[in-house]
Amino acid sequence: MGNLVMSPPELKTPGGYVGEVMTLVKAKNPAEPEFHQAVQEVFESLSLVLEKHPEFRDAKILERLVEPERVIMFRVPWLDDLGRVQVNRGFRIEMNSAIGPYKGGLRFHPSVNLGILKFLAFEQVLKNALTTLPMGGAKGGSDFDPKDKSDNEVMRFCQSFMTELWRHIGADTDVPAGDIGVGGREIGFLFGQYKRIADKFTGVLTGKGLAWGGSLIRPEATGYGCVYFAWEMLKSRKDSLEGKVCLVSGSGNVSQYTVEKLLDLGARVVTLSDSNGFIFDSDGINREKLQWVMELKNGRRGRIREYVNHFKGATYTSTEGLKGYNPLWSIKADCAFPSATQNEITVKDAETLVRNGIKLVAEGANMPSTLEATKLFLDAKILYGPAKAANAGGVATSGLEMSQNSMRQLWTREEVDDRLHKIMIAIHKSCYETSQEYGTPGNLVNGANIAGFFKVANAMMDQGLV
Ligand code: NAP
Repeated sequence: MGNLVMSPPELKTPGGYVGEVMTLVKAKNPAEPEFHQAVQEVFESLSLVLEKHPEFRDAKILERLVEPERVIMFRVPWLDDLGRVQVNRGFRIEMNSAIGPYKGGLRFHPSVNLGILKFLAFEQVLKNALTTLPMGGAKGGSDFDPKDKSDNEVMRFCQSFMTELWRHIGADTDVPAGDIGVGGREIGFLFGQYKRIADKFTGVLTGKGLAWGGSLIRPEATGYGCVYFAWEMLKSRKDSLEGKVCLVSGSGNVSQYTVEKLLDLGARVVTLSDSNGFIFDSDGINREKLQWVMELKNGRRGRIREYVNHFKGATYTSTEGLKGYNPLWSIKADCAFPSATQNEITVKDAETLVRNGIKLVAEGANMPSTLEATKLFLDAKILYGPAKAANAGGVATSGLEMSQNSMRQLWTREEVDDRLHKIMIAIHKSCYETSQEYGTPGNLVNGANIAGFFKVANAMMDQGLV
C-alpha cells in the first residue's frame, strides 16, 4: 500500500459563501491538504443548509468550526534501548467542546503531522455529535513509530508523552483514546503515567484494560459498529450481508473486528492488508484464520505476508512503490470495508470498484476515500457509508466506557453490544432522514455532515461567542 501515504489531489474551491470560507481555510492553514479535504467535503454538504439559515453565517459558525479551540504541540524526548537520545513531536488538537468534553484518539505513526491531526479532529467533532452522546471533538498523537520498537522503548516513549499531556486532559476536560499505533499496550503505559503524576484514578483515557476501568466490547466496537451500519444500509434496499463477498483493507483493530462481525452475519471476507501489501484468500478468512491474524498482529506484531505460508491457496501481492492505486480494490466483490488509513481509495480505485459491480462501501478508516472517489460512489448510487457515520461505533463505545467509569460499574458484554447496535441504527436513521429532508435521499455524506453540524452549531449559538 505504498500509495496510501500520497497527498490528496489539489481541490477546486466551491463558490458562494462556503467558497469564501474555504479560501480562508487554505490561506490560513497552508500545506495541510488532508485538513482542506475534510473541511471541503463538509462545506459542500452545508451549502444546502446555509441558504435557509442565515443566522449561522451571521454568527460565523463555519469560521469558528474550522479554528481549533486549542492546539498543543510539545517535545517528547526519550531514551532507546541503546541509551541513545530520541526526540519526537507530540500533539493534541482540542477542536470543539460545544456539546461535551473533548474526545478523540491518539495516533502514533511516522506520517503524523499537524494537518493530519486537524483533519481527524474536525471529523471527530461531527462524528461525536452523531453518536447521540455528549462528547466534543479532539485528536492527538505523535510521529513516533511503535513498529520495530521494544516494549520498554514504547513504555519510555508513552511515559514521556504523558509527562506533558497530563496537564491538558481530565475525565471532564479531554478524554483521549487509541487510534493507529495506539492499542491496549500503549493505553496501559499512558494511563499508568497519568495516574502516577496526577495521583488520580479516573476515566481519563478510554480503551483501558478490563481489570482497570475498561469496557467490554470497546476493542470490538469500531469494526462491529461499521458492520452494523452496513447492515442498516443494505436493509434500506431490502438486502442483507448473507453470502456477500467482502474486501477488507488493513489488519489492525478495526479490520480484525470488522471481519469477525461479517463472519457472524454470514459474509465471506477475502482480503486483508498492511502497508507492505495484501493477501487474497478466495476460500474466505474463517474464524481460525482470523484468530491466527490476531495473534500475528497483536502478539507477534508481524507482517500480513506471513499469512500465505500458513494458509494454502491464499496469495500475497506487494503494494510497495505503487502510486495512485491499490490492486486490492480490483478484486471482484459485493462490499468493501476500507479500514487502514486516509486516502487509501483513489479515484482510480473507485472506478475499478464501481466497474466491478460493488454494491456497498462502508468506511472503517477515517476519510479512506479521496473527494473524487467519494463523488464517484455517490454518482454511481451505490450504498456509501462515510467514515464519520460508519465508524462512529468506536467513539460511541468510548462514551459508554466514560458512563461506566462515572458510575463505577461494569456492564455486561450483551448490554454494551446492544447499546452499540442501537446507536448505529440511530446514526443511520438520522443520516438517512436528513439526506431526504435536504433533497438528496440516500446521500449519507450530506446526511451525516448536516445532522452532525446542526447539533454542534445550535449548541454554539446557545453558548454565545466563545
Ligand atoms: P491499527 O490497529 O494501528 O491498524 C492500522 C492498519 O492500517 C494496519 O494494518 C496498518 O498497517 C495500516 N496502515 C496504517 N497506516 C498506514 C499507511 N499510511 N499506509 C498503509 N497502511 C497503513 O489502527 P486502527 O485502530 O485499526 O485504525 C485504522 C483506521 O480506523 C484509521 O483510519 C483510524 O483513524 C480509524 N478508526 C479507528 C478507530 C478505533 O477505535 N481504533 C475508531 C474510528 C476510526 P501497518 O501495520 O503496515 O502500519
